[in-house]
Amino acid sequence: MKVLVINAGSSSVKYQLIETDDESVIAKGGIECIGLPNANLKQTVGGKTYTDATPLPDHGAAFSLMLHCLTSPDFGGAIKDVSEIAAIGHRVLHTSTDFDGSVQVDDRALAILKKNIHLGPLHMPANIAGIEACMKALPGVPNVAVFDTAFHATMPPKAAMYAIPYEDYEQFKIKKYGFHGTSHKFVSGKAIEYLRSKGLPWGKIVTCHLGNGSSITAVEDGKSVDTSMGVTPLEGVPMGTRCGDIDASVVKMLCDWKGMTPAEVDTYLNKKSGFLGVSGVSSDSRDVLAAAESGNARARLAMDMFTYRVKKYIGSYAAAMGGIDCIVLTGGIGENSVDLRRDILSGLEFLGVKTDEEANSHPDKSSGVAEINAEDSKVKILVIPTNEELVIARETRDIVGKAKA
Ligand code: ADP
Repeated sequence: MKVLVINAGSSSVKYQLIETDDESVIAKGGIECIGLPNANLKQTVGGKTYTDATPLPDHGAAFSLMLHCLTSPDFGGAIKDVSEIAAIGHRVLHTSTDFDGSVQVDDRALAILKKNIHLGPLHMPANIAGIEACMKALPGVPNVAVFDTAFHATMPPKAAMYAIPYEDYEQFKIKKYGFHGTSHKFVSGKAIEYLRSKGLPWGKIVTCHLGNGSSITAVEDGKSVDTSMGVTPLEGVPMGTRCGDIDASVVKMLCDWKGMTPAEVDTYLNKKSGFLGVSGVSSDSRDVLAAAESGNARARLAMDMFTYRVKKYIGSYAAAMGGIDCIVLTGGIGENSVDLRRDILSGLEFLGVKTDEEANSHPDKSSGVAEINAEDSKVKILVIPTNEELVIARETRDIVGKAKA
C-alpha cells in the first residue's frame, strides 16, 4: 500500500511517499516558507533531487503543488496518478485524553482535534490545515492522525499527573502527555527486537531522543511508563531554544521584573532559552560545542547543563523501573554527536553502564542498530537512527486495514 506521510508545520510541510509492503521510500520532499515570498519545494526521487519555487499562499496551494510534483515526470515521476495513494498519515501533535492511539479522521475526529488546539497552539492549526487540505485535494482517500503523544498514553497517573488541584486536571486536562511518541516507539521497538534476538533482557529501556527538541522516556515491557516532556514539549531537559524543567515561579518573576506578559514569557522560555539562551551562540549543538571547544565558557555551560540533565533523567528512570537493561540514543544529537554521547554516559558506571570509546567514536549504524557499550557492560547502549515517518506509515496502514476489515 502506498501511504503519503505528512508532517505539516505552520509554514512548512515535510512529506514522504512510502510503500508499506517493503517499507521503501518512493519519494521524499519538503516545502518551506508557505505564505512567504520565497516559498520553495525540494523533492527527492530515486536519489535525484528536484526543486520548485512557485509562490504558495497557503497550505492548500502547497498540497496541490506536492501532488503535482509526485506525479510529474519532470520531478522524478514517483507515481503516475494520485489514485495510487491509498491513504494519508498525518503527524499530529496532541490527543489530549481523547484518543490513546492513531485514528482515522472523520468529522467527529476533526472536531476533537479542533477542540484541542489550545494544547498545541503552535502546531495543531498547521496539523489540522494539512488534514483539511488533503481531504479537499483527495476526497475518498482515508486520512489517519498519528499523535506525538499517543505512545505515552500508557503512563500511570502517578507519573503523568501534576500535583495541582485535581479539579483543574478534570476541567482542563492539564497533565504530562509527552511527545516524540513515534520516535520512542520506533527505537524502543527496534531495541527490543535486537535484544530479544540475542536472548538478552529487554524489559527496562531508557530511550533518549536528542535533537533540537529532546525527550527521554522510560519504556517498561515495551510501554512508556514515564517521559520527560509534559503537557507541552517545554518540560524536561534543556533543548535548542527551550529551557526544560524550571521552577514555575520564574514565570511570575519575569512578568514582575521585566514587565513581560504571560505570552511573552512563553515565547522566552520556548524560543529564546536552552542552548541559545545560555550560550548566546546558537541553538545548534554543533555551533555551541565548537564555541565551547574554543574556550567560550557560556557555551561549555550550556552543553554541560544538557548532558548533566540527560544523565539525571536516565538515573531517575533506572530508579523508577528498578533497574535498566538498555539505553537507546537517537535524534540528530543522539545519532551523531560522539562528544555529547560520551559526556551523557560517563558517570553512569554505578548502574553497570560502560561505553566502548572506539565504538562510540565510530558506531556502525548500517544494520539500523549500533552497539556502543563495552563487552562487559551490564547495560546495552544502542545508537538507533529514528524513523518517525515509517511509524506513521505503518500505523496508517494498520488503521485503514482495520477499518476495511
Ligand atoms: P529536530 O528535533 O529538529 O528533528 P534533529 O533530530 O535533526 O532535530 O537534531 C538537530 C540537532 O542535532 C542539532 O542540535 C544538531 O547540532 C545536531 N546534529 C545533527 N547532526 C549532527 C552531527 N553530525 N554531529 C553532531 N550533532 C549533530
